[in-house]
Amino acid sequence: VAQGVARVENVYGVAVTAEGNRLARCCLEDAFEPAAAAWRGLGTIPGSGLALRPEYSRFDAALRLGLDLADDGEAPGCRCGDVICGRIAPRDCPRFGVTCTPARPAGPCMVSSEGTCAAYARYGRQ
Ligand code: SF4
Repeated sequence: VAQGVARVENVYGVAVTAEGNRLARCCLEDAFEPAAAAWRGLGTIPGSGLALRPEYSRFDAALRLGLDLADDGEAPGCRCGDVICGRIAPRDCPRFGVTCTPARPAGPCMVSSEGTCAAYARYGRQ
């Protein structure tokens, strides 16, 4: 700025290598293995998540508490999957602005302020 030059630089290179934190990655690899994961709006995708390796199953809260963490589905009529995949715009969901608003969200895309539908409700042009 002082030299009147405008550009973008990645300053994280000072502290982080392209390989990341090798010790942390080693610990993660020791404790976890690739596993199917349920993603809101997308369903279950094989190998897209991490699960504790069998030798650490004693720390698996879902196992110990008998929790079912499978895809919890979408609210009826919610089109979040189509919205986040870019197949439709939020306004194309019949619930948008009617039975799903930032104040009373029906689907995950409207829940948090950075959700696609919530952002569209706040900043989108009608
Ligand atoms: S407007 Fe609401 S119900 Fe429709 S896709 Fe977005 S979050 Fe789901």
